[in-house]
Amino acid sequence: MTSPNTQTSSGVKSKKSNLVEIQNYIGGRYVPAASAATFETINPATGEAHGRVAHGTAGDIDQAAQAAQKAYESGPWARMSYAERAKVVAAIGDLILKNREKLALAETTDTGKPISESFDGDILRSAQNFHFFSQFASTFAEETYSASENERHIAVREPVGVCGLITPWNLPLYLATWKIAPALMMGNSIVLKPAEWTPYTATLLGEITKEAGLPDGVYNVVNGFGANEAGEALTRHPLVRSISFTGETSTGKAIMGAAAGTLKKVSFELGGKGANIIFADADLSEAIPTAVRAAFRNQGQICLAGSRLFVERPIYDQVVEKMVALVKAIKVGDPTKSDTQMGALISAEHMEKVMSYLVIGKAEGRLECGGERLSDLGPGNFLSPAVFTGLGIKSRFLQEEIFGPALPIIPFDTEEEAIALANDSPYGLSASIWSSDINRIHRVSRGIKAGMIWVNTWFARDLRTPFGGQKSSGLGREGGRYSLEFFSEAKTISYKYKG
Ligand code: ADP
Repeated sequence: MTSPNTQTSSGVKSKKSNLVEIQNYIGGRYVPAASAATFETINPATGEAHGRVAHGTAGDIDQAAQAAQKAYESGPWARMSYAERAKVVAAIGDLILKNREKLALAETTDTGKPISESFDGDILRSAQNFHFFSQFASTFAEETYSASENERHIAVREPVGVCGLITPWNLPLYLATWKIAPALMMGNSIVLKPAEWTPYTATLLGEITKEAGLPDGVYNVVNGFGANEAGEALTRHPLVRSISFTGETSTGKAIMGAAAGTLKKVSFELGGKGANIIFADADLSEAIPTAVRAAFRNQGQICLAGSRLFVERPIYDQVVEKMVALVKAIKVGDPTKSDTQMGALISAEHMEKVMSYLVIGKAEGRLECGGERLSDLGPGNFLSPAVFTGLGIKSRFLQEEIFGPALPIIPFDTEEEAIALANDSPYGLSASIWSSDINRIHRVSRGIKAGMIWVNTWFARDLRTPFGGQKSSGLGREGGRYSLEFFSEAKTISYKYKG
């Protein structure tokens, strides 16, 4: 990474305090908020502030949108060939790998997730997002139709222009780059508003894009908050032609309303409450440890989590017993230690929310293990992973997205019941089915209303496939050509030749 000077810096320690300065990145430069206002970002594992963040608002969004529009209209980026853009996009991926340790530590400091997860998961996948789209975009074919010998209709793809991206705190760089890479490959300019709790890595990406050769103004970051602040200003800005958002369902609805005024394209990846269904004929040696990972990876803060475990009655007691033993063995603690398996929850506020569901779980069901505030680990947001039994499907514990380390296990008797339980949810993002009967797998996977079904696995992804949810889990799909379609406009050009 280039060494930034103090005028236009980000990610450097302030001389006055121990806090890292995290500025906005607009027009190829690190800048403070126009108002000079800042807010502190807290390390969830220590409860202490570690960064001072530019508090961007509508004025900063306007500056960034103007810079992005200028880069789009007058810069070379939108007019480059796929091959030329691919070189820069791949170079961003290379530089992420070169800076993997620094970025992983930044991500862990912002999120409280284990460093192994940041290093081997989030940051690796962020690089992969750029490498994948740098190659995949060249396969994105335009369509040609021949109405007759002398008439051709060609559907070309052009950039949308300025794309607004709004991202969450659970997988900060991973999910931001999942949008940035395809948006760049299609020739767009970007204004990104990262989650207020995790501004660090997306901001560091500014200097990486510059070093990779991305023209100034193509990638812009405005830090700040959501409703009535920078996030909402982005959704209302007339120069911004599309919004790609990942976050809560209620926020998606608010954004859809705000974006309607300027008729923006929208794509939403929203909440989930994934069903994980284990039939008695499953390979339990795989199904049980995977069910533990599916429920507790990233402190349970993943929209794709297997956050409702349904188990066929004959193996129910055995599965509960083994799950509880494995969950009790999860090593919770300092996320910077390499052997830590579960770190801290994102914020004290979020931990309170998760704990309010633990109260419901204890009142309506039976706590099998965990569910304790781990104060001996210090003031960070540490909870021991919890397993509950005895809860009904209509409980708020099962109907609402807890987004924390709390798993209910529910027995079922028939295949039809398993499908009905899985579908008894406002969400429809993902589900897993564990069985060795191919015909049953076929029936159940067809029966569940969700965007992604895993069979005898969880979290397996091929970046070419559509990713997204049904029902309250989203609108549109990302991945492969689905992302490239969203981040481009189709235009039909019809030709008449003189024969
Ligand atoms: P989470 O609980 O995961 O933070 P949110 O949906 O609240 O989920 O936040 C995801 C992102 O959406 C964050 O970057 C946040 O600042 C932003 N955001 C929240 N509310 C709004 C809003 N009304 N308009 C635009 N962005 C918003």
